[in-house]
Amino acid sequence: MFKMRKCLKCHRYTFKEFCSVCGSRTISPHPPRFSLNDKYGKYRRKMLYDE
Ligand SMILES: [Zn+2]
Repeated sequence: MFKMRKCLKCHRYTFKEFCSVCGSRTISPHPPRFSLNDKYGKYRRKMLYDE
């Protein structure tokens, strides 16, 4: 799975959990919201299949 992370201090993108420049913990710019996305995902899939 493609997991791009970002250092908030350097504003650098990395795949590592910790920034290689400043050592800060990196975060996922787009955190997964499974509960919410799944709800709308199901709805979207249903609409696609019904077409
Ligand atoms: Zn950094």
